[in-house]
Amino acid sequence: MNWAFIADQIGLATARSFRVESAQPLSGGDINAAFRLQGGGQSYFVKLNHDRCLPMFEAELAGLQALAACRVIRIPTPITCGRADGQAFLVLEYIDFGRSNPASERLLGQQLAALHQLPQACFGWHQDNTIGSTPQPNLKSADWLKFWREQRLGFQLQLAASKGYGGQLQVLGERLCADLALFFQVYQPKPALLHGDLWAGNAAVDKQGAPVIYDSACYFGDREADMAMTELFGGFSADFYAAYQSAYPLDIGYKTRKNLYNLYHILNHLNLFGRGYLGQAETMMARLLAEL
Ligand code: ADP
Repeated sequence: MNWAFIADQIGLATARSFRVESAQPLSGGDINAAFRLQGGGQSYFVKLNHDRCLPMFEAELAGLQALAACRVIRIPTPITCGRADGQAFLVLEYIDFGRSNPASERLLGQQLAALHQLPQACFGWHQDNTIGSTPQPNLKSADWLKFWREQRLGFQLQLAASKGYGGQLQVLGERLCADLALFFQVYQPKPALLHGDLWAGNAAVDKQGAPVIYDSACYFGDREADMAMTELFGGFSADFYAAYQSAYPLDIGYKTRKNLYNLYHILNHLNLFGRGYLGQAETMMARLLAEL
């Protein structure tokens, strides 16, 4: 990799000259190759992927910028993205992570609640982005049900159909999309800036104990979707949930709707990783329909 070119781009973006003294490969990413670049006391986190992934990095950069602008949760400062040596790159501030503890978990709960309490104008986002490596359409809308039906569940169901997952999955999916309003009879979601992909692997703590979130798939949506995702694969503590609830209590109907929201991620897993998620998606849909 032409690290010198990326170093120049970092220098331009930060208005501070940067020379790479070491480029250390990092493990842990799902999708991209990651490196830590160091030199002259500066340190950057760099993700690399195929050239065609630049729009994905541009959208990730924009999402992190939006989260950072809210100034409620620490985000790795987004620096720049571009192309070098036939690859796409994304550069962020490198953060040394520490160990989470009950106080940092509580702080994450409070800070996420504060993010979700900031009023936003409409659902959607000014650009499409990706969830995992799947495209995520974000056409702006004042109507959350329409947004969730068409741009979340409907989009993933269509993708599944194009991959050969027809039959029961599509029958249940159609019924669920038709009956979506029944889950929102006494609850009106307000648009909030969401992280969008908030599983435990996308949250950490810095050395001072401040929570950090990253690798987002931002859009304006129902905050319950972010909370639901924290529960999907586990890893967030009771302290986190208690702090969130006391700062910004969830509606009672969240217990049911969280499955509606996590269904999106399970459908995405079906589309990304295959048939192993088919049974889970169908069971989730059947259970949701049984609650109506
Ligand atoms: P991917 O998009 O490939 O899933 P992530 O953005 O999740 O990559 O980053 C991969 C891993 O690198 C994370 O799990 C985290 O441990 C680490 N990481 C992410 N961002 C930073 C950062 N700004 N500074 C230091 N480490 C980071």
